Amino acid sequence: MLATRKTLVLQLQNMAHPLCPTCKKPVEPYQNNPLFPFCSERCKLVDLGNWLEDRYRVTLEVPFSEGDDGVPDTDEQKP
Ligand SMILES: [Zn+2]
Repeated sequence: MLATRKTLVLQLQNMAHPLCPTCKKPVEPYQNNPLFPFCSERCKLVDLGNWLEDRYRVTLEVPFSEGDDGVPDTDEQKP
């Protein structure tokens, strides 16, 4: 019974304090975090990079169209 209660508490904590899929650090709840479920832009890009690597490995021989690279541009404006 204690174990069940503990599991429930852990699940609730996990919902309130989700962990970043990349670095496993606690992330802000999605209400406060535009990068959810990631803790930072860097972790988001790392995860995207891993995903693209997998995809390239699978579809290596399939030519992919330009303009659909799936990599978001940074908003950095350089003078
Ligand atoms: Zn992270």
